[in-house]
Amino acid sequence: MSVASQAPAYIRSIMPYQPGKPISELAREMGIPEASIVKLASNENPLGMSAAARDAAKAALCEGARYPDGSAFSFKAALCRKFGVRAEQLVVGNGSNDILEIASQAYLAPGLSAVFAQHAFAVYPLATNARGARGIEVPARNFGHDLDAMAAAVAADTRIVFIANPNNPTGTFLPGEQIEAFLRKVPGNVLVVLDEAYTEYLEDEQRYDSIAWIERFPNLLVSRTLSKAYGLAGLRVGYAIAHPEVADLMNRVRQPFNVSNVALAAAEAALGDNEFLARSADINRRGMAQITEAFATLGLEWITSAGNFVTVKVGDAAAVNQALLRQGVIVRPIGGYGMPQWLRVSIGLPEENARFIEALRQALA
Ligand SMILES: *Cc1c(COP(=O)(O)O)cnc(C)c1O
Repeated sequence: MSVASQAPAYIRSIMPYQPGKPISELAREMGIPEASIVKLASNENPLGMSAAARDAAKAALCEGARYPDGSAFSFKAALCRKFGVRAEQLVVGNGSNDILEIASQAYLAPGLSAVFAQHAFAVYPLATNARGARGIEVPARNFGHDLDAMAAAVAADTRIVFIANPNNPTGTFLPGEQIEAFLRKVPGNVLVVLDEAYTEYLEDEQRYDSIAWIERFPNLLVSRTLSKAYGLAGLRVGYAIAHPEVADLMNRVRQPFNVSNVALAAAEAALGDNEFLARSADINRRGMAQITEAFATLGLEWITSAGNFVTVKVGDAAAVNQALLRQGVIVRPIGGYGMPQWLRVSIGLPEENARFIEALRQALA
């Protein structure tokens, strides 16, 4: 009997996460210089890091021999100031992916279940399956979450409902009133993980105050990240805001030093750089218009997105993706999300968007 066969069946049946192709890998495969490649595959910030975050990271690097502050005191204090919450409500993660994992670790086990939507972020089924829990996938409505159906799908053994708003990879958005109505409907003993990885990109009229709801709904956990609008995807920082008792449980099961000192320092500096955040949202807004106008010109169907990416129907997406790769443009095929005719493209700098549009035109010709 092989040693691999000894792992639990629920581990052996996990489908690995498929990340965006790294620039270095495509350069190797195609024999082309890395500098000629445009990567719009992982919803990264095309502006890079803010200068404030980079300086803070550099300074922290010199303390690399010391363990980081496992309690993330200083970063949490910055979060408290920014959001008017208490430190006991916070959990800091190695990216918000870590937050999703820690919540699953704290609440899921064999014999229990989690509810999430069809076409929702791939980490929800991954984190659920890794705990031996049952995933309940609720059919999407117009590619977005069907909250009524999700509330109806909550079973006696359900411990977590995952909601992505906006959702990745579809970019669909749920107005705040709908989420609030959902919270009123769901039993108070079910943890609702509201994943707001793209919340900083929302337009003013779309904004809603989910953090304020925690008081009324102690079963709500708001998950945020520094990876997208804050430009720190490579450093890995995310955080949860929740009821202190929920945060306490999660802090017991997370790794004691789950976020590096460099990441914590950069995150704290990034959090205070509102000018960078505004610039990120602005370049995203203009890039979204540039790319969707091109889709319209090409006669392509796309899903209106509230994030820093947009998903477009191209037919044989695997073939179109290959044609894009040959032109040095990396986007994300989402066949693994049950959308084999669609590609997800991250919004880049104007010249990167233009490269993508021209490559797509060629690929479809
Ligand atoms: C990108 C993303 C995350 C996680 O990103 P981290 O880099 O781990 O913070 C979480 N949720 C959604 C919906 C995402 O798209």
